Amino acid sequence: MASVDIIGLSKRFGDTTVLHPTDLRIEDGEFLVLVGPSGCGKSTLLRLIAGLEEPSEGRVVIDGRDVTNAAPSDRGLAMVFQSYALYPHLTVAANIAFPLKVAGIARREIDDRVREVAAMLDLSDLLDRRPRALSGGQRQRVSIARAVVRRPRVLLLDEPLSNLDANLRARMRHEFARLHQQLGATMIYVTHDQLEAMTLANRIVVMGAGRVEQVGAPLDVYRRPASVAVAAAIGSPG
Ligand code: ADP
Ligand code: MG
Repeated sequence: MASVDIIGLSKRFGDTTVLHPTDLRIEDGEFLVLVGPSGCGKSTLLRLIAGLEEPSEGRVVIDGRDVTNAAPSDRGLAMVFQSYALYPHLTVAANIAFPLKVAGIARREIDDRVREVAAMLDLSDLLDRRPRALSGGQRQRVSIARAVVRRPRVLLLDEPLSNLDANLRARMRHEFARLHQQLGATMIYVTHDQLEAMTLANRIVVMGAGRVEQVGAPLDVYRRPASVAVAAAIGSPG
């Protein structure tokens, strides 16, 4: 696991400021949940941390190393997206193994690691299947397995459950809590599901219109929202 320091980080697209200068420290092993209305900049912040977007100003420091100019693959992190693009022609095992193959890891170690993460994500019996023979929840588990198989120290998740039905979301919520323990990774998790935020987070960051509005423990933010907008984002009683 690793700490993540966001220092004066901002993003503009042309004349539009999508993220105002933001400072945030995410502790080693923390499960941080980002919430806020659609369009407030959650995905942009995640993409800046991942290196998929270049900041207008500021720095990203992971475990004390300034990675602002490092390639996404050289930051020790992995990202899970809302839409889980699996390779349709590859088996589940080959999909999970793919990042390790690209990294040039030896065949035997690949097999061991694929088995290990498959067990972690309850996919051991599905390794020979193709993605089309899986349910939505199983596919999303494969995409998570593919992200964690490289043992990232930081795992970024952008609304990973929003395409799943309510039952599956409830099951996956428990799996994320377990995964966090087993991986020992620092997790930064975007959702607009208030229940996910309240149950998974060590700390919640509430964003609004390109700014951090409030940071705190879930119950503190819930009980003492700093504004009406924060109350709406977190589902506090009006
Ligand atoms: P969220 O994930 O909170 O819904 P986003 O980070 O995706 O919000 O987007 C924040 C704002 O930035 C939105 O208004 C969006 O339209 C804008 N935006 C995102 N990416 C781009 C881009 N590549 N070019 C221009 N505007 C963008
Ligand atoms: Mg988004």
